[in-house]
Amino acid sequence: MTSSDSLERPPSVDKILSSDAASHLIERYGRSSVTQVLRAVLESLRQAYKADKNSLPSMDTLIQDLELRLEEHAGFSLKRILNLSGTVLHTNLGRALLPQDVLNTVVEVASNATNLEYDLDSGKRGDRDTHIESLICNLTGAEAATVVNNNAAAVLLVLNTLGHSKEVPVSRGELVEIGGSFRIPEIMSRSGCTLVEVGATNRTHLKDYRDAISANTALLMKVHTSNYEIRGFTNEVSPSEVANLAHDNNLPFVNDLGSGSLIDLTKFGLPDEPTVSSAIKAGADVVTFSGDKLLGGPQAGIIVGTRQLIQEIKANPMKRALRVDKMTIAALFEILKLYEDPDRLAQHLPTLRFLTRPLEALNTLANNLLDPLSSTLGNYAEVSIVDVESQIGSGSLPLERLQSKAICIKAKSDSALRALAASFRGLPLPVIGRIHDGTLLFDLRTMEDTAEFIDQLNHLDLSESTS
Ligand SMILES: *Cc1c(COP(=O)(O)O)cnc(C)c1O
Repeated sequence: MTSSDSLERPPSVDKILSSDAASHLIERYGRSSVTQVLRAVLESLRQAYKADKNSLPSMDTLIQDLELRLEEHAGFSLKRILNLSGTVLHTNLGRALLPQDVLNTVVEVASNATNLEYDLDSGKRGDRDTHIESLICNLTGAEAATVVNNNAAAVLLVLNTLGHSKEVPVSRGELVEIGGSFRIPEIMSRSGCTLVEVGATNRTHLKDYRDAISANTALLMKVHTSNYEIRGFTNEVSPSEVANLAHDNNLPFVNDLGSGSLIDLTKFGLPDEPTVSSAIKAGADVVTFSGDKLLGGPQAGIIVGTRQLIQEIKANPMKRALRVDKMTIAALFEILKLYEDPDRLAQHLPTLRFLTRPLEALNTLANNLLDPLSSTLGNYAEVSIVDVESQIGSGSLPLERLQSKAICIKAKSDSALRALAASFRGLPLPVIGRIHDGTLLFDLRTMEDTAEFIDQLNHLDLSESTS
Protein backbone atom coordinates (compact mmCIF):
# COMPACT_ATOMS: atom_id res chain seq x y z
CA MET A 1 0.00 0.00 0.00
CA THR A 2 1.35 3.47 -0.86
CA SER A 3 0.52 6.76 0.77
CA SER A 4 -1.85 7.64 -2.08
CA ASP A 5 -4.02 4.50 -1.62
CA SER A 6 -7.13 4.77 0.52
CA LEU A 7 -6.59 3.72 4.13
CA GLU A 8 -8.20 0.44 5.17
CA ARG A 9 -9.17 1.54 8.65
CA PRO A 10 -8.88 4.77 10.69
CA PRO A 11 -5.27 5.09 11.85
CA SER A 12 -4.25 5.79 15.45
CA VAL A 13 -3.00 9.17 16.65
CA ASP A 14 0.39 7.65 17.50
CA LYS A 15 0.79 6.07 14.09
CA ILE A 16 0.29 9.40 12.35
CA LEU A 17 2.42 11.34 14.83
CA SER A 18 5.36 9.02 14.29
CA SER A 19 5.16 9.27 10.49
CA ASP A 20 7.68 11.27 8.49
CA ALA A 21 4.90 13.38 7.02
CA ALA A 22 3.77 14.50 10.47
CA SER A 23 7.24 15.35 11.70
CA HIS A 24 7.54 18.52 9.61
CA LEU A 25 4.11 19.63 10.84
CA ILE A 26 5.25 19.09 14.43
CA GLU A 27 8.34 21.16 13.76
CA ARG A 28 6.22 23.99 12.40
CA TYR A 29 3.17 24.01 14.70
CA GLY A 30 4.39 22.20 17.84
CA ARG A 31 3.45 18.69 19.03
CA SER A 32 0.60 19.83 21.23
CA SER A 33 -1.28 21.70 18.47
CA VAL A 34 -0.71 18.89 15.97
CA THR A 35 -2.00 16.29 18.43
CA GLN A 36 -5.05 18.37 19.29
CA VAL A 37 -6.03 19.02 15.68
CA LEU A 38 -5.17 15.46 14.61
CA ARG A 39 -7.53 14.04 17.27
CA ALA A 40 -10.38 16.09 15.79
CA VAL A 41 -9.50 14.99 12.23
CA LEU A 42 -9.37 11.30 13.22
CA GLU A 43 -12.60 11.54 15.18
CA SER A 44 -14.47 12.74 12.10
CA LEU A 45 -12.79 9.98 10.05
CA ARG A 46 -14.05 7.37 12.54
CA GLN A 47 -17.58 8.79 12.38
CA ALA A 48 -17.52 8.69 8.58
CA TYR A 49 -16.05 5.17 8.63
CA LYS A 50 -18.89 3.93 10.86
CA ALA A 51 -21.40 5.12 8.31
CA ASP A 52 -19.48 3.99 5.24
CA LYS A 53 -16.57 1.55 5.28
CA ASN A 54 -15.31 2.92 1.97
CA SER A 55 -15.15 6.53 3.12
CA LEU A 56 -11.50 6.67 4.17
CA PRO A 57 -9.08 8.97 2.36
CA SER A 58 -5.46 8.20 1.51
CA MET A 59 -2.62 8.95 3.91
CA ASP A 60 -1.59 11.89 1.65
CA THR A 61 -5.05 13.40 1.73
CA LEU A 62 -5.27 12.98 5.48
CA ILE A 63 -1.97 14.81 5.99
CA GLN A 64 -3.06 17.60 3.62
CA ASP A 65 -6.31 18.00 5.51
CA LEU A 66 -4.40 18.06 8.78
CA GLU A 67 -2.11 20.78 7.46
CA LEU A 68 -5.02 22.91 6.28
CA ARG A 69 -6.74 22.65 9.64
CA LEU A 70 -3.49 23.49 11.45
CA GLU A 71 -3.11 26.62 9.33
CA GLU A 72 -6.62 27.71 10.30
CA HIS A 73 -5.96 26.79 13.94
CA ALA A 74 -2.80 28.90 14.04
CA GLY A 75 -4.13 31.87 12.09
CA PHE A 76 -5.72 35.02 13.45
CA SER A 77 -9.28 35.43 12.25
CA LEU A 78 -9.10 39.24 12.49
CA LYS A 79 -7.27 40.26 9.37
CA ARG A 80 -6.73 42.85 6.73
CA ILE A 81 -9.35 43.17 3.99
CA LEU A 82 -9.95 45.54 1.09
CA ASN A 83 -12.96 47.72 1.85
CA LEU A 84 -14.52 48.52 -1.51
CA SER A 85 -18.02 48.69 -0.03
CA GLY A 86 -18.45 52.38 -0.77
CA THR A 87 -18.78 53.21 2.93
CA VAL A 88 -15.66 55.00 4.13
CA LEU A 89 -16.28 54.60 7.87
CA HIS A 90 -17.79 51.11 7.99
CA THR A 91 -18.35 49.97 11.57
CA ASN A 92 -18.25 46.26 10.60
CA LEU A 93 -15.01 46.84 8.71
CA GLY A 94 -13.23 48.65 11.54
CA ARG A 95 -14.06 52.33 10.79
CA ALA A 96 -11.14 54.81 10.56
CA LEU A 97 -7.66 53.73 9.40
CA LEU A 98 -4.65 55.03 11.28
CA PRO A 99 -1.71 56.38 9.26
CA GLN A 100 1.49 54.37 9.54
CA ASP A 101 3.56 57.04 11.35
CA VAL A 102 1.04 57.16 14.19
CA LEU A 103 1.86 53.53 14.90
CA ASN A 104 5.47 54.25 15.87
CA THR A 105 4.25 56.00 18.99
CA VAL A 106 1.76 53.23 19.69
CA VAL A 107 4.51 50.62 19.43
CA GLU A 108 6.83 52.72 21.61
CA VAL A 109 4.37 53.04 24.50
CA ALA A 110 3.06 49.49 24.12
CA SER A 111 6.47 47.84 24.29
CA ASN A 112 7.96 49.92 27.08
CA ALA A 113 7.13 50.98 30.60
CA THR A 114 5.60 54.47 30.49
CA ASN A 115 4.46 57.28 32.79
CA LEU A 116 0.84 56.45 31.90
CA GLU A 117 -0.43 57.37 35.36
CA TYR A 118 2.72 58.70 36.92
CA ASP A 119 3.68 62.32 37.39
CA LEU A 120 7.38 62.62 36.60
CA ASP A 121 7.69 65.97 38.46
CA SER A 122 6.27 64.88 41.79
CA GLY A 123 7.00 61.15 41.52
CA LYS A 124 3.40 60.52 42.52
CA ARG A 125 0.38 58.94 40.90
CA GLY A 126 -0.77 60.82 37.80
CA ASP A 127 -3.83 60.81 35.56
CA ARG A 128 -3.84 59.13 32.14
CA ASP A 129 -6.04 61.87 30.65
CA THR A 130 -3.33 64.52 31.19
CA HIS A 131 -1.42 63.22 28.16
CA ILE A 132 -4.16 64.36 25.78
CA GLU A 133 -6.45 66.68 27.69
CA SER A 134 -4.83 70.01 26.78
CA LEU A 135 -4.61 69.03 23.11
CA ILE A 136 -8.33 68.19 23.04
CA CYS A 137 -9.12 71.45 24.84
CA ASN A 138 -7.06 73.49 22.37
CA LEU A 139 -8.82 71.92 19.41
CA THR A 140 -12.34 72.22 20.80
CA GLY A 141 -12.26 75.30 23.01
CA ALA A 142 -13.44 73.21 25.97
CA GLU A 143 -12.22 73.80 29.54
CA ALA A 144 -11.64 70.13 30.27
CA ALA A 145 -11.78 66.71 28.66
CA THR A 146 -11.67 63.00 29.39
CA VAL A 147 -11.57 59.91 27.19
CA VAL A 148 -13.30 56.53 27.42
CA ASN A 149 -13.54 53.38 25.33
CA ASN A 150 -16.08 54.60 22.74
CA ASN A 151 -18.84 57.16 22.37
CA ALA A 152 -21.47 54.76 23.69
CA ALA A 153 -19.41 54.56 26.88
CA ALA A 154 -19.09 58.36 26.90
CA VAL A 155 -22.88 58.81 26.80
CA LEU A 156 -23.37 56.10 29.43
CA LEU A 157 -20.82 57.67 31.77
CA VAL A 158 -22.16 61.22 31.36
CA LEU A 159 -25.76 60.14 31.99
CA ASN A 160 -24.83 57.93 34.93
CA THR A 161 -22.79 60.71 36.53
CA LEU A 162 -25.13 63.64 36.00
CA GLY A 163 -28.52 62.00 35.75
CA HIS A 164 -28.62 58.94 38.00
CA SER A 165 -32.07 58.45 39.60
CA LYS A 166 -33.25 61.63 37.93
CA GLU A 167 -35.14 62.60 34.79
CA VAL A 168 -33.61 63.47 31.42
CA PRO A 169 -35.87 65.04 28.79
CA VAL A 170 -34.97 64.19 25.14
CA SER A 171 -36.90 65.04 21.98
CA ARG A 172 -38.87 62.12 20.48
CA GLY A 173 -37.19 62.98 17.18
CA GLU A 174 -33.76 62.20 18.68
CA LEU A 175 -34.28 58.77 20.27
CA VAL A 176 -31.75 57.20 17.92
CA GLU A 177 -30.60 53.64 17.46
CA ILE A 178 -27.04 53.34 16.15
CA GLY A 179 -25.77 50.09 14.69
CA GLY A 180 -28.47 47.94 16.24
CA SER A 181 -27.19 47.99 19.81
CA PHE A 182 -26.84 51.61 20.90
CA ARG A 183 -30.31 53.00 21.63
CA ILE A 184 -30.83 56.17 23.60
CA PRO A 185 -33.81 54.83 25.63
CA GLU A 186 -31.85 51.72 26.66
CA ILE A 187 -28.61 53.56 27.45
CA MET A 188 -30.72 55.95 29.47
CA SER A 189 -32.24 53.24 31.65
CA ARG A 190 -28.90 51.41 32.04
CA SER A 191 -27.42 54.71 33.20
CA GLY A 192 -30.06 54.86 35.90
CA CYS A 193 -31.90 57.80 34.35
CA THR A 194 -35.56 58.18 33.57
CA LEU A 195 -36.10 59.25 29.99
CA VAL A 196 -38.75 61.91 29.59
CA GLU A 197 -39.89 61.97 25.97
CA VAL A 198 -40.39 65.47 24.67
CA GLY A 199 -42.49 66.69 21.73
CA ALA A 200 -43.52 64.57 18.77
CA THR A 201 -41.39 62.54 16.36
CA ASN A 202 -41.41 65.21 13.66
CA ARG A 203 -41.86 68.37 15.71
CA THR A 204 -40.47 69.45 19.05
CA HIS A 205 -40.84 73.02 20.38
CA LEU A 206 -39.05 74.91 23.12
CA LYS A 207 -42.31 74.89 25.09
CA ASP A 208 -42.21 71.07 25.11
CA TYR A 209 -38.81 71.13 26.81
CA ARG A 210 -40.03 73.78 29.24
CA ASP A 211 -43.06 71.67 30.18
CA ALA A 212 -40.86 68.61 30.70
CA ILE A 213 -38.67 70.27 33.33
CA SER A 214 -39.53 69.27 36.89
CA ALA A 215 -37.86 69.39 40.29
CA ASN A 216 -36.38 65.99 39.43
CA THR A 217 -34.79 66.97 36.08
CA ALA A 218 -31.04 66.29 35.96
CA LEU A 219 -30.08 67.92 32.66
CA LEU A 220 -31.32 68.69 29.17
CA MET A 221 -29.91 66.65 26.32
CA LYS A 222 -29.76 66.69 22.55
CA VAL A 223 -28.65 63.73 20.45
CA HIS A 224 -27.36 64.20 16.92
CA THR A 225 -29.61 62.20 14.59
CA SER A 226 -26.60 60.59 13.01
CA ASN A 227 -28.13 58.01 10.73
CA TYR A 228 -31.44 59.49 9.65
CA GLU A 229 -33.14 62.76 8.87
CA ILE A 230 -36.67 63.81 9.55
CA ARG A 231 -38.08 65.68 6.56
CA GLY A 232 -41.30 67.46 5.71
CA PHE A 233 -43.36 69.18 8.41
CA THR A 234 -40.66 69.30 11.07
CA ASN A 235 -39.35 71.45 13.86
CA GLU A 236 -36.27 71.00 15.95
CA VAL A 237 -35.15 73.24 18.79
CA SER A 238 -31.60 74.47 18.20
CA PRO A 239 -28.83 73.53 20.63
CA SER A 240 -28.41 77.14 21.74
CA GLU A 241 -32.11 77.48 22.58
CA VAL A 242 -32.05 74.26 24.62
CA ALA A 243 -28.83 75.43 26.28
CA ASN A 244 -30.39 78.76 27.27
CA LEU A 245 -33.46 77.03 28.68
CA ALA A 246 -31.26 74.62 30.64
CA HIS A 247 -29.16 77.43 32.07
CA ASP A 248 -32.27 79.47 33.01
CA ASN A 249 -33.24 76.47 35.11
CA ASN A 250 -29.74 75.88 36.51
CA LEU A 251 -29.43 72.62 34.60
CA PRO A 252 -26.49 71.43 32.50
CA PHE A 253 -26.99 70.92 28.76
CA VAL A 254 -25.43 67.79 27.23
CA ASN A 255 -25.01 67.39 23.47
CA ASP A 256 -24.18 63.92 22.04
CA LEU A 257 -22.70 64.78 18.65
CA GLY A 258 -21.97 61.17 17.67
CA SER A 259 -19.39 61.77 15.01
CA GLY A 260 -18.62 65.40 15.64
CA SER A 261 -15.92 66.96 13.55
CA LEU A 262 -13.01 69.01 14.85
CA ILE A 263 -12.84 71.09 11.69
CA ASP A 264 -15.22 72.73 9.25
CA LEU A 265 -15.61 70.04 6.58
CA THR A 266 -17.17 72.43 4.07
CA LYS A 267 -13.66 73.86 3.56
CA PHE A 268 -12.81 70.50 1.97
CA GLY A 269 -15.90 70.56 -0.23
CA LEU A 270 -17.67 68.14 2.10
CA PRO A 271 -21.15 68.43 3.60
CA ASP A 272 -21.62 70.39 6.82
CA GLU A 273 -21.27 68.41 10.06
CA PRO A 274 -21.52 70.19 13.42
CA THR A 275 -18.10 70.79 14.94
CA VAL A 276 -17.32 70.18 18.59
CA SER A 277 -16.21 73.77 19.10
CA SER A 278 -19.45 75.13 17.60
CA ALA A 279 -21.42 72.87 19.96
CA ILE A 280 -19.52 74.33 22.90
CA LYS A 281 -19.98 77.88 21.62
CA ALA A 282 -23.71 77.16 21.33
CA GLY A 283 -23.78 76.58 25.08
CA ALA A 284 -23.26 72.85 25.66
CA ASP A 285 -21.78 72.12 29.08
CA VAL A 286 -20.81 68.60 27.99
CA VAL A 287 -20.25 67.27 24.45
CA THR A 288 -19.62 63.61 23.57
CA PHE A 289 -18.21 62.28 20.27
CA SER A 290 -16.39 59.31 18.74
CA GLY A 291 -12.65 59.00 18.14
CA ASP A 292 -12.98 56.71 15.12
CA LYS A 293 -15.72 58.36 13.09
CA LEU A 294 -15.01 61.64 11.26
CA LEU A 295 -12.14 62.40 13.64
CA GLY A 296 -10.31 59.54 11.93
CA GLY A 297 -8.55 58.16 15.00
CA PRO A 298 -8.64 55.08 17.22
CA GLN A 299 -11.83 53.76 18.81
CA ALA A 300 -12.55 56.10 21.70
CA GLY A 301 -15.27 58.26 23.20
CA ILE A 302 -14.27 61.82 23.94
CA ILE A 303 -16.08 63.87 26.57
CA VAL A 304 -15.42 67.61 26.70
CA GLY A 305 -17.03 70.27 28.84
CA THR A 306 -16.81 72.55 31.84
CA ARG A 307 -14.07 71.89 34.37
CA GLN A 308 -16.56 71.12 37.11
CA LEU A 309 -18.70 68.65 35.18
CA ILE A 310 -15.70 66.84 33.67
CA GLN A 311 -14.27 66.52 37.16
CA GLU A 312 -17.52 64.92 38.38
CA ILE A 313 -17.54 62.59 35.38
CA LYS A 314 -13.94 61.52 36.02
CA ALA A 315 -14.72 60.86 39.67
CA ASN A 316 -17.45 58.34 38.77
CA PRO A 317 -16.14 54.83 39.63
CA MET A 318 -17.52 53.66 36.27
CA LYS A 319 -14.81 55.73 34.55
CA ARG A 320 -12.33 53.09 35.65
CA ALA A 321 -14.35 50.40 33.88
CA LEU A 322 -14.63 52.44 30.69
CA ARG A 323 -11.14 53.94 30.46
CA VAL A 324 -8.89 53.66 27.42
CA ASP A 325 -5.52 51.94 27.38
CA LYS A 326 -2.14 53.49 26.65
CA MET A 327 -2.15 52.44 22.98
CA THR A 328 -5.37 54.36 22.39
CA ILE A 329 -4.00 57.41 24.18
CA ALA A 330 -0.85 57.31 22.03
CA ALA A 331 -2.80 56.93 18.78
CA LEU A 332 -5.28 59.64 19.74
CA PHE A 333 -2.47 62.03 20.64
CA GLU A 334 -0.77 61.57 17.26
CA ILE A 335 -4.05 61.95 15.36
CA LEU A 336 -4.97 65.10 17.27
CA LYS A 337 -1.51 66.53 16.54
CA LEU A 338 -2.29 66.27 12.82
CA TYR A 339 -5.23 68.63 13.39
CA GLU A 340 -2.81 71.36 14.46
CA ASP A 341 -1.78 71.57 10.80
CA PRO A 342 -5.16 71.63 8.99
CA ASP A 343 -3.56 72.47 5.62
CA ARG A 344 -1.90 69.08 5.44
CA LEU A 345 -4.62 67.13 7.21
CA ALA A 346 -6.17 65.68 4.05
CA GLN A 347 -2.74 64.41 3.07
CA HIS A 348 -2.01 62.69 6.39
CA LEU A 349 -5.34 61.47 7.70
CA PRO A 350 -6.69 58.49 5.71
CA THR A 351 -10.36 59.22 6.51
CA LEU A 352 -10.16 62.77 5.18
CA ARG A 353 -7.98 61.67 2.25
CA PHE A 354 -10.61 59.12 1.20
CA LEU A 355 -13.44 61.61 1.60
CA THR A 356 -11.73 64.27 -0.52
CA ARG A 357 -10.25 62.18 -3.33
CA PRO A 358 -10.75 63.70 -6.77
CA LEU A 359 -12.91 61.78 -9.21
CA GLU A 360 -10.08 61.59 -11.80
CA ALA A 361 -7.94 59.59 -9.37
CA LEU A 362 -10.77 57.09 -8.88
CA ASN A 363 -11.27 56.91 -12.62
CA THR A 364 -7.59 56.04 -13.12
CA LEU A 365 -7.88 53.20 -10.62
CA ALA A 366 -11.01 51.93 -12.35
CA ASN A 367 -9.24 51.92 -15.71
CA ASN A 368 -6.29 50.03 -14.23
CA LEU A 369 -8.61 47.33 -12.96
CA LEU A 370 -10.89 47.00 -15.97
CA ASP A 371 -8.70 44.83 -18.24
CA PRO A 372 -7.28 42.45 -15.63
CA LEU A 373 -10.76 41.88 -14.20
CA SER A 374 -12.39 41.43 -17.61
CA SER A 375 -9.83 38.86 -18.65
CA THR A 376 -9.99 36.99 -15.33
CA LEU A 377 -13.77 36.85 -15.31
CA GLY A 378 -13.91 36.19 -19.06
CA ASN A 379 -17.13 34.33 -19.82
CA TYR A 380 -18.40 34.43 -16.27
CA ALA A 381 -19.37 38.07 -16.03
CA GLU A 382 -19.43 41.49 -17.68
CA VAL A 383 -17.17 44.13 -16.20
CA SER A 384 -17.63 47.88 -16.62
CA ILE A 385 -16.90 51.21 -14.94
CA VAL A 386 -19.89 53.03 -13.45
CA ASP A 387 -20.62 56.24 -11.56
CA VAL A 388 -21.69 55.56 -7.99
CA GLU A 389 -22.16 57.47 -4.77
CA SER A 390 -20.08 56.59 -1.72
CA GLN A 391 -21.28 57.25 1.77
CA ILE A 392 -19.35 58.47 4.75
CA GLY A 393 -20.80 55.92 7.15
CA SER A 394 -20.88 55.28 10.89
CA GLY A 395 -23.75 57.65 11.30
CA SER A 396 -21.88 60.59 9.85
CA LEU A 397 -23.81 62.76 7.41
CA PRO A 398 -26.26 59.94 6.65
CA LEU A 399 -27.98 61.41 3.62
CA GLU A 400 -25.01 63.03 1.98
CA ARG A 401 -23.35 61.11 -0.83
CA LEU A 402 -20.00 61.60 -2.54
CA GLN A 403 -19.64 61.12 -6.30
CA SER A 404 -17.41 58.14 -6.93
CA LYS A 405 -16.34 55.51 -9.48
CA ALA A 406 -16.82 51.78 -9.20
CA ILE A 407 -16.12 48.57 -11.03
CA CYS A 408 -19.47 46.98 -11.83
CA ILE A 409 -19.67 43.21 -12.30
CA LYS A 410 -22.72 41.66 -13.86
CA ALA A 411 -23.01 37.87 -13.58
CA LYS A 412 -25.27 35.40 -15.41
CA SER A 413 -27.65 34.96 -12.48
CA ASP A 414 -28.21 36.09 -8.92
CA SER A 415 -26.70 32.90 -7.55
CA ALA A 416 -23.67 33.29 -9.83
CA LEU A 417 -23.29 36.87 -8.57
CA ARG A 418 -23.46 35.78 -4.94
CA ALA A 419 -20.91 33.04 -5.66
CA LEU A 420 -18.66 35.63 -7.28
CA ALA A 421 -18.96 37.99 -4.32
CA ALA A 422 -18.09 35.04 -2.06
CA SER A 423 -15.00 34.18 -4.10
CA PHE A 424 -13.75 37.77 -3.83
CA ARG A 425 -14.28 37.49 -0.06
CA GLY A 426 -12.34 34.22 -0.15
CA LEU A 427 -9.20 35.75 -1.70
CA PRO A 428 -5.97 35.80 0.34
CA LEU A 429 -6.65 39.53 0.84
CA PRO A 430 -10.47 39.41 1.02
CA VAL A 431 -12.22 42.00 -1.16
CA ILE A 432 -15.53 43.33 0.14
CA GLY A 433 -17.81 45.08 -2.36
CA ARG A 434 -21.52 45.67 -2.25
CA ILE A 435 -24.39 44.12 -4.18
CA HIS A 436 -26.64 46.67 -5.79
CA ASP A 437 -29.34 46.20 -8.41
CA GLY A 438 -28.17 42.70 -9.35
CA THR A 439 -24.55 43.78 -9.78
CA LEU A 440 -21.45 43.54 -7.64
CA LEU A 441 -19.89 46.98 -7.13
CA PHE A 442 -16.33 47.73 -6.06
CA ASP A 443 -16.28 51.41 -5.07
CA LEU A 444 -12.73 52.69 -5.53
CA ARG A 445 -12.90 55.63 -3.12
CA THR A 446 -11.10 53.64 -0.41
CA MET A 447 -8.64 51.82 -2.67
CA GLU A 448 -5.05 53.03 -2.36
CA ASP A 449 -3.32 50.83 -4.90
CA THR A 450 -4.53 48.35 -7.53
CA ALA A 451 -1.47 46.07 -7.70
CA GLU A 452 -2.33 43.93 -4.69
CA PHE A 453 -5.84 43.44 -5.97
CA ILE A 454 -4.71 42.48 -9.46
CA ASP A 455 -1.87 40.21 -8.29
CA GLN A 456 -4.25 37.92 -6.46
CA LEU A 457 -6.87 37.54 -9.17
CA ASN A 458 -5.43 34.15 -10.18
CA HIS A 459 -6.64 32.85 -6.79
CA LEU A 460 -10.30 33.58 -7.61
CA ASP A 461 -12.42 30.44 -7.37
CA LEU A 462 -14.89 30.69 -10.25
CA SER A 463 -16.23 27.13 -10.05
CA GLU A 464 -19.63 28.19 -8.76
CA SER A 465 -20.04 31.31 -10.87
CA THR A 466 -20.64 29.57 -14.19
CA SER A 467 -24.40 29.91 -14.52
C1 LIG B 1 -22.08 56.64 16.72
C2 LIG B 1 -22.87 57.30 17.77
C3 LIG B 1 -22.84 56.85 19.09
C4 LIG B 1 -22.04 55.65 19.50
O1 LIG B 1 -20.68 55.85 19.27
P1 LIG B 1 -19.66 54.61 19.21
O2 LIG B 1 -18.36 55.26 18.90
O3 LIG B 1 -20.17 53.73 18.12
O4 LIG B 1 -19.69 53.95 20.53
C5 LIG B 1 -23.59 57.52 20.03
N1 LIG B 1 -24.35 58.57 19.69
C6 LIG B 1 -24.43 59.03 18.42
C7 LIG B 1 -25.30 60.19 18.12
C8 LIG B 1 -23.68 58.40 17.43
O5 LIG B 1 -23.74 58.84 16.16
